[in-house]
Amino acid sequence: MQELVIISGKGGTGKTSVTASFAVLAHRPVIADCDVDAADLHLILSPRVKHRHPFRAGHEAVIREEKCSGCGACLTFCRFEAVRMNAKDAGKTTFSIDPVACEGCGVCVRFCPERAIDFLERLCGEWMTSDTRCGPMVHARLGVAAENSGKLVSTVRQQARRIADERDHPLIIVDGPPGIGCPVIASVTGATLVLAVTEPTVSGEHDLQRVLSLTRHFQIPTAICVNKWDINPVMTDRIEATARQAGARIVGRIRYDRAVTRAQMEEKAVVETDAPCVEDIKAIWSQLGACRTIPGRSENLEV
Ligand code: SF4
Ligand code: SF4
Repeated sequence: MQELVIISGKGGTGKTSVTASFAVLAHRPVIADCDVDAADLHLILSPRVKHRHPFRAGHEAVIREEKCSGCGACLTFCRFEAVRMNAKDAGKTTFSIDPVACEGCGVCVRFCPERAIDFLERLCGEWMTSDTRCGPMVHARLGVAAENSGKLVSTVRQQARRIADERDHPLIIVDGPPGIGCPVIASVTGATLVLAVTEPTVSGEHDLQRVLSLTRHFQIPTAICVNKWDINPVMTDRIEATARQAGARIVGRIRYDRAVTRAQMEEKAVVETDAPCVEDIKAIWSQLGACRTIPGRSENLEV
């Protein structure tokens, strides 16, 4: 089984449009949307949800009012200003904990003299398995102000691998998160190949450099493509030279095409339209098939 992960140094480079097109071009891959903080692949692939599963991670403190003596120790010990002192109720000062501000460190639970604070597993969101016109999909929704997106990304990838194993799918296509943080690392470790989508701007170049140093660190074979390359051909040349020097493979360029936005509005992948840039995306897809992987895992990526 092979895993192609599409990432970008920052949001808005066209990563999800490229991912959706690859999902259409591949022969029924398993699709994983690991951009859990700002998932949007579902807007194009319109998944029909089959199963929903709660995602729990970390803890949150909750005061049991009937046991609380109102001593205020939790207010003193909380370093995150998550404990609120409420108005007096029947002569007793009451306290409560703001679930958004609570970091789940557990200090108040440890030091409450009345053992009046519960330490509950935090419900951070949900992950889903679905069917799409391109193949099965695993995706997720992270709750408002919820953390642990790296753990949720790992869950989504694990489930995508399980489905690929069980149903004998040779390829998983992953829409990775932007940036280089924990969720990105959780998305790319152990992947067969990473494709970094970038744009020809100064920030695009800077962010790509950070992405390339990340994939080099984890020794993951990496390819790049420049989206909207024709808005700045000089910068495109520069980015490609930088990427080459960093050991990445250049698999193509995608022209600026207003039809990409139109396709999104019609809930279509770009390659399901007759947009001029379809030719560019198809060329990149075929180049990816020729990418060799790292020594010891030398099979080609199947397309
Ligand atoms: S430390 Fe415990 S008993 Fe004291 S105010 Fe907080 S919850 Fe109530
Ligand atoms: S668990 Fe930690 S962050 Fe949350 S209220 Fe208690 S002391 Fe504050």
